[in-house]
Amino acid sequence: MVFLTVDQFGSDYLERYGGNLTGGLARLRDEGATWMRGRQDHAIAETAPGHASTMSGRFPVHTGISSNSQGVNTTDAPLIGSGDIGASPFRFRGTTLYDWMKATDPQTRVLSVSRKDRGAILPIGRAKVDIYWFASNGRFTTSRYYRDTLPTWVGAFNATRTPQSYAGRTWSPLLPADRYAEPDTNPLESLGTDLTFPHTLPADEALAMRSFSQYPWMDSLTLAFALEGVRTMGLGATPTRTDLLAVSLSTTDAVGHRYGPDSREIHDQILRLDRYLGAFLDSLQALRGAGRIIVALTADHGIAPFPEWRSPWYRNHDAQRVDPKRAWARVYAAMRAAGVDTAAVDSDDGFRVRDAEAFRRAGVDPDAMAAIWVRELRRYNGVLRADLLRDLASADTVHDDIARRWLHMLPPDGPVRAVVTLEPFGYWAGVDYATHGQPHDYDTNVPVIFWGPGIARGRRAGEARVVDMAPTLATLLGITPLERLDGRALPLRP
Ligand SMILES: [Zn+2]
Repeated sequence: MVFLTVDQFGSDYLERYGGNLTGGLARLRDEGATWMRGRQDHAIAETAPGHASTMSGRFPVHTGISSNSQGVNTTDAPLIGSGDIGASPFRFRGTTLYDWMKATDPQTRVLSVSRKDRGAILPIGRAKVDIYWFASNGRFTTSRYYRDTLPTWVGAFNATRTPQSYAGRTWSPLLPADRYAEPDTNPLESLGTDLTFPHTLPADEALAMRSFSQYPWMDSLTLAFALEGVRTMGLGATPTRTDLLAVSLSTTDAVGHRYGPDSREIHDQILRLDRYLGAFLDSLQALRGAGRIIVALTADHGIAPFPEWRSPWYRNHDAQRVDPKRAWARVYAAMRAAGVDTAAVDSDDGFRVRDAEAFRRAGVDPDAMAAIWVRELRRYNGVLRADLLRDLASADTVHDDIARRWLHMLPPDGPVRAVVTLEPFGYWAGVDYATHGQPHDYDTNVPVIFWGPGIARGRRAGEARVVDMAPTLATLLGITPLERLDGRALPLRP
């Protein structure tokens, strides 16, 4: 069983570049059971919460992973052979598909790989197994949460110095210029520098490794590393056992942030990803036999175009930027007047209480302060709504998509007391790259695809949620989840 997550891959890319897709993306889209209206049905459309929901069948409010800043990073789990920030699933709660597989067959093997720590860690949950990601020194590694030394095959793969061999290489478009509808050059791209193809990786090796993740080759390398793991770990080699390979491909996110969803660069990245995935599926089939592999594909989130770039594809013509400074200034003034240190709150995920004790000491209800913030933000142009969590708890979650997505994100009695939602396609002030993270359809609409034996091909109408994927795969494998899920099994036969 292979679970693929493409980072920052809205469903629309499968339509938009449709005619130019001929590889693995096209194969999965056309031969699989395909929901174009797949949904990450939670509010903060970011990598960590999105990945935590892929194989847990549960929303962020139940996995405990609410945002990247409240994700996997910790100094308690340093990396092996790298000074990059440590990472572990210490915030993740509950079980995943791997745990259910393992409970059924203790021999089950698993490998999870990504360029990003959170992309490799969170799909698997808390299990201390083979989980690897790419460090800024150009090597795949893991953290001491998982092990103290790298296995021989990982060391041998790093010793081939494949990414280092790309130093000084040039990224040019795969197809002739007339196959791209997008302009090559827009001054909003890439902080106003290196706007136009070809893009060249620095010749200096150490510098090249630091920006390698922004070139399509990063995905090709991740897939090559995954295949090497499949070979050496014997994943899928035993006919009586089902093993699990999870791969999260991060380059689409890096290129999308840098150039935006209307750029020629992102179009070309998707075409290359499509070809890489085709070769990857061919290699897997050659290794383990056609008809013995189940593939699932989804994404952690989509993206919104730069507000200043009038998009030919998205309806972002009224998009604006919002600076919440004034709302915070009002809250800080009120807190000071009430005798609460302003350091008792921060802006992670909304209005978050960091120090509940400071409020208790002063005899101040945090929600009274959050209400000031909400009232101020509601007056802003560009703010769609601001809500106290306790008010959202009584919202109509069938018809109010935004309220539902916030409630799938955060507990009503948690440290985040209030949240704000921008108007569609709005950005926060000061963000100089293209980004995502809002509870709107464009940020949460991702493909949900299943492909392989026992799965009837064809486009499926209606919505499928990403939390439905794990229970669907459990049903396909005939295994039972170990806890109550938010998702339910989708019909894989029409
Ligand atoms: Zn991102």
